[in-house]
Amino acid sequence: LVRVDVLGVQIDAVTLAEAVRTVEGFIAEGGPHLVATANAEMVMAAGRDRELARILADAALVVPDGAGVVWAARHLGQPVPERVAGFDLAEELLARAATEGWRVFFFGGAPGIAAKASEAAAAKWPGLTVAGVRDGYFAPEEAASIAAAIRASKPHILLAALGVPKQEKWLAAQATTLAVPVSMGVGGTFDVMAG
Ligand code: UDP
Repeated sequence: LVRVDVLGVQIDAVTLAEAVRTVEGFIAEGGPHLVATANAEMVMAAGRDRELARILADAALVVPDGAGVVWAARHLGQPVPERVAGFDLAEELLARAATEGWRVFFFGGAPGIAAKASEAAAAKWPGLTVAGVRDGYFAPEEAASIAAAIRASKPHILLAALGVPKQEKWLAAQATTLAVPVSMGVGGTFDVMAG
């Protein structure tokens, strides 16, 4: 993968189709892999937040999510092929999960939202196996037990909707406990999917 530096964040110059193929490779290989979707807001946040910057530097895949990032990469002389929106990547992965038999865990959002989003996804992509759901409001001391419950449900893909940078920090901190091949922060995606 070719990585492009946008204000200190290394972003993979991939199309949506290439991102999906890369994730497919992560699942075949076994975990854990963190997938991040870098928009301008995340790049700016990484500039002020060393922990987030380090997590993004260590991420297995960072896609160019947002017109600002695509524009900046082009003007810095290292263009990326297209915008890969986090929502679109999540949808493509759910479609692929339904046909490949990948188990998906929906974690985050207000109480009931992850369940609604998973039901909408299972209706849209018949055959999708939902490994489990859990809302994103919990006490810090519950983190380890939530991660253990996610691990026990044996997902191939964990979608985490806690907002930036909480979701990236949580996934990085819990990576060893989770042992999930692919974890991805999806921000407000469940709210949109739940309708
Ligand atoms: N959220 C959550 N737990 C928290 C804080 C936020 O589950 O402690 C959820 C919130 O309900 C929403 C999502 O995280 O569904 C954040 O969405 P937003 O559009 O703000 O994401 P971002 O812009 O950060 O990608």
